[in-house]
Parts: sequence; structure tokens; C-alpha cells
Amino acid sequence: MTGKTHIMGGITASLAVAHAANENPLIMVGAGIVGALLPDICHSGSRIGRRFPILSRIINLLFGHRTFTHSLLFLVIVSFLIDRFFPNDILKYGLLTGMVSHYILDMATRSGIKLFFPLDLTVRFPLTIRTGSKVENLIFSILALLSFYFGYEALGWYRFW
Ligand SMILES: [Zn+2]
Repeated sequence: MTGKTHIMGGITASLAVAHAANENPLIMVGAGIVGALLPDICHSGSRIGRRFPILSRIINLLFGHRTFTHSLLFLVIVSFLIDRFFPNDILKYGLLTGMVSHYILDMATRSGIKLFFPLDLTVRFPLTIRTGSKVENLIFSILALLSFYFGYEALGWYRFW
């Protein structure tokens, strides 16, 4: 998936969680976007990889693409690090929600992800799509529509006064 779709996936998922949990949508969405971009740190051409080129190259050399940073292990480690250094539940759940949305979107592509890294097991949906294809554009549009809905609902909750 392209960075654009991942960002939209992170926005949609974190707005949905903010709506369900009656949490502050702004912090949740900010963290959700970061979480949605974080796994592609393993890929130096990605948005986040271009921002942190050295770190990105090191992770890519050590693990390759879509392995460690697309795994449950990485989720657990990130969750642990946030609890340790930035203890804030909204931040944590926003970030993890964004990461999960990234995993799900990448599972919809042919190369899938190594969800159970270090086990060498590729996880993907039975039906997959090509990155940058028309179907991806369609998914992007559906996510954008859902974002409007959840965003409207989440902000609506804040209008009660
Ligand atoms: Zn990815």
C-alpha cells in the first residue's frame, strides 16, 4: 500500500476507536497517523524511511522489509516502550491502532507481512491487491468516507455542553 492509503487507514481506525471509547479524537488521530507510518521504517523509500534514513537502513539491513516492524512482537515492544517512556493511554492506543491498521492493509497485498516474526510465516488475505492499483484507490476512498463518518461522530460527542 502507498503511504497515502496507510495515513488514511490510520485516521479511519483511530477515529473509529476514539468514537467507540469516547476519547479525544485529535490526540488519537495524531498518534494513529504516526502508528500507521511507523512499520515502514524498514523501507528507506517510505515516508518515514526518508525522514530517518540511517535508522531505516539499519533496520532494513538487519531484518529486511515487512518482517520485524510488521509483527506482533514489534507491537508488544512499542507498547512496552510507550508505557515506560511516555505513559499515556490515548497516545498508546492511538499509536497501536495506527500500527494494526497498517498491518491489515499490508495483509491485503500479495507480499503480505511476517506477522509472527521471527517465525518465517507470511500472513495475507486470500484476496490481495496491487499497490497503487485502482482497487487501492477504491479502498482509499472508502476509508476517507468512513473517516468523515467517524470524525463527525467523534466531534459530535465533544459538542455536548
Ligand atoms: Zn508496510
